[in-house]
Amino acid sequence: MNKILIIAEHDGKTLSPSTAKCVSCAAAFGGDIDIAVLGQGTGDVAAQAASIAGVHAVIQIDAAHLEAPLSVNHANEIVALASGYSHLLGPSSTYGKDLMPRVAALLGANQVSDIMEVMGPYQMKRPVYAGNAIVNVTAPEDVTLVGTVRVASWPAASEGGGAEIRQAEPAAGPCTDSAWIGLESGGGERPDLQTAGIVVSGGRALGSKENFELIYALADQLGAGVGASRAAVDAGYVPNDMQVGQTGKIIAPDVYFAIGISGAIQHITGIKDAGTIVAINKDPDAPIFEIADIGLVGDLFNIVPELKSQLG
Ligand SMILES: Cc1cc2nc3c(=O)[nH]c(=O)nc-3n(C[C@H](O)[C@H](O)[C@H](O)COP(=O)(O)OP(=O)(O)OC[C@H]3O[C@@H](n4cnc5c(N)ncnc54)[C@H](O)[C@@H]3O)c2cc1C
Repeated sequence: MNKILIIAEHDGKTLSPSTAKCVSCAAAFGGDIDIAVLGQGTGDVAAQAASIAGVHAVIQIDAAHLEAPLSVNHANEIVALASGYSHLLGPSSTYGKDLMPRVAALLGANQVSDIMEVMGPYQMKRPVYAGNAIVNVTAPEDVTLVGTVRVASWPAASEGGGAEIRQAEPAAGPCTDSAWIGLESGGGERPDLQTAGIVVSGGRALGSKENFELIYALADQLGAGVGASRAAVDAGYVPNDMQVGQTGKIIAPDVYFAIGISGAIQHITGIKDAGTIVAINKDPDAPIFEIADIGLVGDLFNIVPELKSQLG
């Protein structure tokens, strides 16, 4: 029978919704599902992980050097836990994409990235060519399957579980080759771009960092996360962790606002799984209108303030 270990993503206090999405993917593989929570003072996070339905056990490893999400330290702990598990899964977020390949390399295994569908215990689908083609992957059954889960493709597993929480000692000390400097995030207190239910994104049309405040203001009114096109990132209006698309974040909000974004294929790749897409663009022939559910043709500098005032 499969035994699956999911590596929890969290900020020290709150479990990221990406973990419950990994649980849904693990459930599709079938088997026992455990969650590893690495960090320091992660009692609340472990309790949240234990409350996800379908989880068998939570393994909590607390140590000062695990507080920062540095893959050089976290990978050693996952490798030490790995024996006995058939599958090791992490989210295809920045954290998971940093950690899981290192785990795979240390185990001498290949990694399967962006698992979007599961057809059997070792059969799955993943996107390639910016999501324009889907590959069927069959992994060898005699090697631990290490993979990242394309969180945009999976619903979050429900609450209501009561998994046991086990404490474990760290297997390794701190790595001295790498040091944690700090975390800078452009999003501030706003919902996380990758898991927000509503995302408001701005493009090159905003014209400046100052004008991008319009996007933040609309997002705050809607309780939304904020994203951007690569053109807006390259122009320095916003930090690059806000980029949505092929070389940015792949997201699946219920509602996505594309404001002053043309709808280049590389941007669309990042929002293929979004629910309702609302586009605001002054060019009625902009490609974004081909995939938008609601399109508003006009100048964003008129429409967005109008929308804000209508929303009250
Ligand atoms: C390998 C590769 C990877 C890439 N990865 C990404 C990626 O991950 N994400 C990404 O976004 N891009 C990516 N790109 C870039 C992509 O091809 C486009 O260049 C980019 O998405 C364009 O951004 P934009 O829509 O903001 O700008 P533009 O294409 O310049 O579009 C601006 C839009 O704003 C509209 N507009 C202008 N003024 C107003 C106004 N006042 N009111 C309303 N509308 C207005 C215009 O009509 C236009 O449609 C990638 C490109 C390559 C080659």
